[in-house]
Amino acid sequence: MNIPKVINLVVKNDLCVGCGICVYKCPSNALEMAWDKNGFLFPKVISSCDSEGDCLEVCPFNSIPKDEVKTENEIAQLFLETENHHQKIGKYKQIYAGFSTEFRLSSSSGGLGTYISTKLLENKIVDHIFSIKESSEPGIFYQYSVSSSKSDLLRASKTRYFPVTLATVFSEINQLEGKIAIVGVGCFIKAIRLAQHSEPKLKEKIPFLIGIICGGLKSSFFTEYLASKMAVEIKNIRKPQFRKKDFSSTANDYSFSCSDENEEEKSIKMKTVGDMWGTGLFKANACDFCEDVTTELADISLGDAWLDPFDKDGKGTNVIVTRSLLAENLIKEGIKNKDLEVDFLPLEIFLSSQQGSFNHRHKGLPARIKLAKKKNQLVPPKRYENETVGWDFKLVQKQRMKVRAESLAVWQHKKEASVFDETIQKSLKKLNFYTKIYHKRRRFSQLKNKVIVKINNRIFSKNKNQ
Ligand SMILES: Cc1cc2nc3c(=O)[nH]c(=O)nc-3n(C[C@H](O)[C@H](O)[C@H](O)COP(=O)(O)OP(=O)(O)OC[C@H]3O[C@@H](n4cnc5c(N)ncnc54)[C@H](O)[C@@H]3O)c2cc1C
Repeated sequence: MNIPKVINLVVKNDLCVGCGICVYKCPSNALEMAWDKNGFLFPKVISSCDSEGDCLEVCPFNSIPKDEVKTENEIAQLFLETENHHQKIGKYKQIYAGFSTEFRLSSSSGGLGTYISTKLLENKIVDHIFSIKESSEPGIFYQYSVSSSKSDLLRASKTRYFPVTLATVFSEINQLEGKIAIVGVGCFIKAIRLAQHSEPKLKEKIPFLIGIICGGLKSSFFTEYLASKMAVEIKNIRKPQFRKKDFSSTANDYSFSCSDENEEEKSIKMKTVGDMWGTGLFKANACDFCEDVTTELADISLGDAWLDPFDKDGKGTNVIVTRSLLAENLIKEGIKNKDLEVDFLPLEIFLSSQQGSFNHRHKGLPARIKLAKKKNQLVPPKRYENETVGWDFKLVQKQRMKVRAESLAVWQHKKEASVFDETIQKSLKKLNFYTKIYHKRRRFSQLKNKVIVKINNRIFSKNKNQ
């Protein structure tokens, strides 16, 4: 039996994010999506393949891409006409922060995701939007689904930290009349751009992509773990909500909630659960090899403005990066009509809002690549591959990778939050210890540099006065 290339080069390397575009692209219909033992979606071989690797061509984690689509930089040249470019955030037109007056309270952040989707429909730029809505299949809480009206779109608001796939979306798109917009995280948007590159008619069919800035994709274990923290049995989890706001608190003080078998809603403040993002718990391995912090290939990128003074407001505020003229016009029009309370955000401040993600995904990446290569694992070409990483940050990276893998193995073994917390504690403590060393050393070298600059300045002014 011929095995599709994406299986041997991506899935077997644990680099799949489950976007599923390979399933759509496979001319032999040799693939379908399935759940793996770690709670992620992945393409499974269902029949022999006789093609030349069409599946691999559209994979965002292809380790042997063609030169013209080698990294986000090259792909951006093909799709974004924008003049500004920043090494860390890619091509962009403007950067803003703010919220939608209509959708802020019913959204996860400032409501720009729902606002832009609504305007795309109202202004007839597109006829349908694919984003994430509740699924009717048991245990599969969320999935990509089409919306063609504003009321439909309201059901697609809010952040869902749950595995989703585009596997059947593209066949649906080809059946639909009119134009389409899609909402997605960085790697999904990259896969869509690769599909548009290999099939140019998709470029016209999908004229707008809404990018969701992403700090890493979580396995379905994440939902199970949070429910278990509230003593809700996995089989009884209903309607999980990942970002319940507390309007009277800060923006990052949100809760997870779900209903149990009696439809009784339970909720837990995420602050009491511990650090779920900086530790890599329940995260996909591929996310450790993604360097696209700000969803560089979308027309507009939206994230959380968790920075002073916006984080003081529990109602939520977005950071916004426009990358196409269409996106820029939608924001300008919204400001003019007072639908948006949005203002320019200086580049440096925007960068600081995503500092943690830049540290992990740009600064720490070369260390993780080295570790992967040592194990003969394939890695896609990366822009930050050759930077130097200090020994202390290397230790942090190694331990984070360990914690990530361990979290999935431990949950697989026993799906109970108290057992999980006890088992993973030792590894988390070690990670915490290494992180402290790294921070201390960094503070020390910053101080040392300041002293050196001061001494040099003194010597310089002394010499000048002589
Ligand atoms: C997995 C994940 C990780 C994230 N990590 C970060 C981060 O590290 N830093 C940061 O600044 N922001 C992050 N975000 C983005 C943030 O949570 C908000 O989604 C974003 O600010 C938009 O908020 P909003 O109020 O404008 O969106 P809303 O108006 O609530 O609309 C949200 C839109 O996103 C869609 N959506 C929800 N879940 C998903 C999903 N899993 N995949 C694709 N589309 C989805 C919805 O269908 C809707 O169209 C993350 C989001 C996700 C899904």
